[in-house]
Amino acid sequence: MTNNESSKPTNFIHQIIEEDLDKGTHGGQVVTRFPPEPNGYLHIGHAKSICLNFGTALKYGGACHLRFDDTNPEKESQEYIDSIISDVRWLGFEWAGDIRYSSDYFDQLYQWALHLIREGKAYVDSLSPHEIREYRGTLTEPGRNSPYRERSVEENLELFEKMRQGDFDEGECALRAKIDMAAPNMNLRDPVIYRIRKAHHHQSGDKWCIYPSYDFTHGQSDAIEGVTHSICTLEFEDHRPLYEWFIENLPVPAQPRQYEFARLNLNYTVTSKRKLKLLVDEAKVDGWNDPRMPTISGLRRRGYTPASIRHFCDMIGVTRSNGIVDMGMLEAAIREDLDANAPRAMCVLQPLKLTITNLPDGEQEWFELPAHPKDESMGLRKVPFTRNLLIDREDFAEVPPRKWKRLSPGEAVRLRGAYVIRCDEVIKDASGEVVEIKASYDPDTKGANPIDYKPKGVIHWVSADNSQPCEVRVYDRLFTEPNPDGDKERDFHDFINPESLVVYPDARAEIGLKNASIESRYQFERQGYFCVDPDTTEARMVFNRTVGLRDSWAKIKGQ
Ligand code: ATP
Ligand code: MG
Repeated sequence: MTNNESSKPTNFIHQIIEEDLDKGTHGGQVVTRFPPEPNGYLHIGHAKSICLNFGTALKYGGACHLRFDDTNPEKESQEYIDSIISDVRWLGFEWAGDIRYSSDYFDQLYQWALHLIREGKAYVDSLSPHEIREYRGTLTEPGRNSPYRERSVEENLELFEKMRQGDFDEGECALRAKIDMAAPNMNLRDPVIYRIRKAHHHQSGDKWCIYPSYDFTHGQSDAIEGVTHSICTLEFEDHRPLYEWFIENLPVPAQPRQYEFARLNLNYTVTSKRKLKLLVDEAKVDGWNDPRMPTISGLRRRGYTPASIRHFCDMIGVTRSNGIVDMGMLEAAIREDLDANAPRAMCVLQPLKLTITNLPDGEQEWFELPAHPKDESMGLRKVPFTRNLLIDREDFAEVPPRKWKRLSPGEAVRLRGAYVIRCDEVIKDASGEVVEIKASYDPDTKGANPIDYKPKGVIHWVSADNSQPCEVRVYDRLFTEPNPDGDKERDFHDFINPESLVVYPDARAEIGLKNASIESRYQFERQGYFCVDPDTTEARMVFNRTVGLRDSWAKIKGQ
């Protein structure tokens, strides 16, 4: 990817950076990092952070690191690491240097913990986790000093060594920074910096049974890596004094600064890894990359392009005020991309037989249709016209409503790109269901030529004799409520959209799509945008609907 963001108006982070560059702070360097915890798949909120961190480095000729923030081994896994790596790459970004792990710095962090102990700035507390919480006080009441707060340096060194050796059980004691139990900012009330966790770590194996806290890890990792601007979301604003306390009180090699921006909140979905994991674990969706998930891998499978997600992140901007972004904006971003770039095709979701009685069996006429109505460079596609055709059930009405522009008895429509046909006869089965239409075509109405009489409408079709069987999965929003998390009585499970997936197992696409590769994207004329799903086999293709042609939800909301 190129540095194509540089002409865009700058956000407040960029203003800070430009001031730093002017003043020569950080030696004129810009180093950012994207620091995911590998405890789930990345979601659209992370895309905002990725675009900001990598985009900022690109804009200022700096570097962006990919660092796994892996201090909670029990919740983390290699599967999550692999998915995150692949998602960042897919979005179009490349990190500077190797992939980094906070766990790479466990030795150094341990040394710095010893440093704090020796300086009398950390102590081993033997209160239980419950007691530690009790002693912490509240927002309105100061905390109380632990009875173990005044242990000697020697005793603390000895106890911390025992912690490291595994001599204590989980929760029996913890290492705390000695700051101020009366600090108005609760984060400064002697935060725990090392906990006992007798857990195997996906990177460091069984080397450690004590693990540093997020706060003790993050800033120091930034300093080790020479990160200059450590950009995180607003909920860490209250942690900034602690971030700075560690940087000031440790012999770190650099002086990174933390800046906060507003996280992305998107309506009609949830963006919390914990909740997304619940949806996966409870099989409410078909895995982390289910096309209804707001995960990067879900959006990818849904048919989103990396460019559309980057464009969306550009549009929403970076500010310090929390707000909720409408899902319609994300959908508009992919619709705009696909409208310009997706070739057109026809696909019949619920086939209804249409027999052209005045065309002999075995005859096949090829029509050439533009792959894109506004982009000639995309060339032509060939569609066979035969005696046995298929149209969508929804395009026929035996008793048409007023203003019906599709097929009905005795009426004519144009088959897109081909002839005008007239419905002569309707065949029903024993139960009265329409099973076949018999029609005749008018040879004088070929292609786009002017015609004597104008049919009321144009419908899509495929040849029954020569088309591609496929399953079409029509996806919609996963939740019916704009704020599925916002109800006090009910939880987000209650708002799952029962129609978020409708499967059409017997669909037929025009034959040219036969060998379309996985992830290739099309506009199915009159239906929406679709892409080829990885479930596709030689015998049967699977298409996912990315988004409809228009925003049907805006109408529902009365916009
Ligand atoms: P979640 O709440 O979904 O678990 P998290 O913040 O715990 O997210 P991390 O893996 O710690 O997830 O996030 C990596 C980076 O992405 C962090 O810098 C975090 O601030 C940022 N990030 C996470 N969610 C969002 C969001 N919704 N909008 C913008 N940035 C986000
Ligand atoms: Mg986190």
